[in-house]
Amino acid sequence: MKFKELAVYFQRLESTPKRLEMTDILAELFKKAAHDKKVNIEEIIYLSQGHLLPSFKNIEFQMSEKLLQKSIVLATDKPGKLVEDMFQKIGDYGKVVQNLSDIDSKNLSIADVYKKLTELSGFFGSGVVAKKTEYLGILLKSTTPLEAKYIVRIIMGKLRLGVGDPTHLDSLSFAYNGDKSLRKPLERAYNLCCDLGLVAKILFSEGIKRIEDFEVIVGCPIRMALAARLAGASEIIEKIGTCAVEAKYDGFRCQVHKIGNEIQVYSRNLENTTHMFPEIKEGTLVQIKNKNVIYEGEAIAYDPRTGECLPFQTTVQRKRKHGIESMRKQFPLKLFVFDMLYADVDITNKSYEQRREVMASVIGKGNVLEVSPARIVKTPQELENIFEESLLDGREGIVAKRLDGTYKAGGRNFNWIKLKSSYSGELNDTIDCVIVGYYFGKGLRASLGLGSLLTCVYDKKDEIFKTIAKIGSGLTDAELVKFRKMLETVKVKTKPAKVDSILEPDVWVEPKYVIEVQADEITRSPVHTCGKVHDKDPGYALRFPRTVDKIREDKDAEDATTVNEIINLFNMQGRKK
Ligand code: AMP
Repeated sequence: MKFKELAVYFQRLESTPKRLEMTDILAELFKKAAHDKKVNIEEIIYLSQGHLLPSFKNIEFQMSEKLLQKSIVLATDKPGKLVEDMFQKIGDYGKVVQNLSDIDSKNLSIADVYKKLTELSGFFGSGVVAKKTEYLGILLKSTTPLEAKYIVRIIMGKLRLGVGDPTHLDSLSFAYNGDKSLRKPLERAYNLCCDLGLVAKILFSEGIKRIEDFEVIVGCPIRMALAARLAGASEIIEKIGTCAVEAKYDGFRCQVHKIGNEIQVYSRNLENTTHMFPEIKEGTLVQIKNKNVIYEGEAIAYDPRTGECLPFQTTVQRKRKHGIESMRKQFPLKLFVFDMLYADVDITNKSYEQRREVMASVIGKGNVLEVSPARIVKTPQELENIFEESLLDGREGIVAKRLDGTYKAGGRNFNWIKLKSSYSGELNDTIDCVIVGYYFGKGLRASLGLGSLLTCVYDKKDEIFKTIAKIGSGLTDAELVKFRKMLETVKVKTKPAKVDSILEPDVWVEPKYVIEVQADEITRSPVHTCGKVHDKDPGYALRFPRTVDKIREDKDAEDATTVNEIINLFNMQGRKK
């Protein structure tokens, strides 16, 4: 199959906002690919996700805009000034190269382009800059304008087809079975390995039975289980009965894989963060004797003089690429281990109680890993007492866990229920919002370049971001400047296709950054699209929204709070004590 054909599929996908149409187009592509013996279906899957490998493998092209510009000049023989000016006007190097190139096809296959892109991503060492520029220039010289557009976008990490994982999964099911009926087992397998290319390869080469029997693979991150919310202690006991209660630690979640002597640490959004936390690697090797293990916990920085746990704003400083050793001395980490998923065998289908038992026997003595204490409670009062104790200990709240609950990869259900400290308003939890645009503001704020943020939550069903709040409060001047800089890197000329908004900010940005937002309550509002069904109906909005200086770097845009969660929280408000 030629890359030219793939580019046409990409163009068809890009030109429709309709999910069903996207599903049909992708299913047609997968079916065709599965019947072509020369095609590796994994390559098509990764490319259509905008990568070369599953995203947890962190492959980056490391090509700056300057380098890319040079490659486009080389490929099109057009002056640098023209390339630059056109980019300033349309804001997308993909379209720039498409407009300027007039090359006839060299008929490269998908495998050819995939191989060349893999080579490009692997260049390093002396002279790497010139090498990359030239290599990409030559590649772009041998592709049609449409192919060049998508190659450039993949390199920039901005493929922007508007197709999310759910559509990919539905399409695989349609391609294999002609209907949506395989979505569930495919999704389960995907949640267990986070590698859609692998799932597709197994489906088409070994059949659906192998997908239905899919097990955890040590070394492939498991999409993390999430906690649901309820209004209070009584609701929790009513829902899950006698349960285990653990403190809710406010650090960052780590999923640790031990494969013999090799350790990998994954963040909440499945980024490989192993190099950032050397003590987790060392602690795991010292405290765990089993050969192959996967466990999860919350990492928190502590004061080495007093042993006291430090707040999130300090802990988060440990998420860095440089200066790791000195930071480690200043703010060492402790890892509160709260779940075990694999201990030489897959135990995700065992109950919470059974997994805790395994955990207690696997985690040995040491200074880094500490099993998160859990207490069994039968009544709302007992739960309330532990909740209060937790807050006094400086924790965020508690997580109640269903005793017979299995580990549901990627699921937010009532196996885990979080309860956080409440503040003045009706809403006893923060909301994770995605920034989709900003306003310049007035006076001093205008001089800082940013006055307020337009934010969204995620509509999982329609794979679209819906607005919920315009936020101006809670941001210090320094933060306004920081946000402005951060958002500058993702600003776009027009409203992103994946955003549904009535409001029109001064600047639109790609949905990427997630921030934690506090609000007094959720209200109905005609100006926001969250939960809006018909144009004349009101949507949902946050009342008195303010940021709490917490950028959720561990969350991707699609991990933000969902529209359904907002509707549940709205319905819960009246029932709170
Ligand atoms: P939230 O991020 O507010 O949805 O809360 C869920 C998060 O709480 C999880 O993703 C974990 O990172 C964190 N957490 C802290 N302590 C625990 C615990 N004992 N059990 C499970 N999750 C915990």
